[in-house]
Amino acid sequence: MNRFEYFKDIAKNAKVLGEGWDRILEAALIMHGHLCGAMPLGFRAGRLALKVLGAEREPNMAKIALVETGVFHAAACFVDGVQFSTGCTYGKDLIKKLDYGKWAVTIAIKKDGRAVRVSVKPEVIQAAFKGKFLVERKKGVPPTEVPQEYILQPFINTITRPNEELLDVSEIFTYEFKPTPKPSFEVLRCDICGEMVAENYVRYKRGKLLCIPCSEYEVLK
Ligand SMILES: [Zn+2]
Ligand SMILES: [Zn+2]
Repeated sequence: MNRFEYFKDIAKNAKVLGEGWDRILEAALIMHGHLCGAMPLGFRAGRLALKVLGAEREPNMAKIALVETGVFHAAACFVDGVQFSTGCTYGKDLIKKLDYGKWAVTIAIKKDGRAVRVSVKPEVIQAAFKGKFLVERKKGVPPTEVPQEYILQPFINTITRPNEELLDVSEIFTYEFKPTPKPSFEVLRCDICGEMVAENYVRYKRGKLLCIPCSEYEVLK
């Protein structure tokens, strides 16, 4: 069985979550590339947050996801699960990492600020760290090189277990959105490299309109 068929087969388990969720999980697996413990947890956490808010998977830019994992985090993969189940993707600029080193996500709706935080139960994380998959990962074995029988059943369990066994949910609260600039639909050409640049990223230096690398200005973050 090739990798795509293998993913499709595993994703069928998500049918218990409702119509279409198997297809979303299949897409998540294809994009993520491997079976692991954290991606399906993010997938479940994001899905539950939407459910609590009575919100649909985001097709436009109407809600955001704030994930509490971080860099150098064993469960960094959590974020990909959140992106797929919520539709709050990196490409749409709808997902931010708070870098708390935790296993939680907040989904907030821009229109009215309604938000909910979903976190993975501590005992679920503790059990995962005792599992054979993470023992191998800790030794530095890449996810696809860990014997797949170590992770297949835990992965399926994470997809099929009831929400109450996996996740804690906050009350619905109001998230304060800060005003943000609108994206620019104007484009200019850099006077040095000749490449196209979104107008709001153009820098003015010594009479020239420049892209950021040609301007040698730093990007402020
Ligand atoms: Zn992963
Ligand atoms: Zn340039």
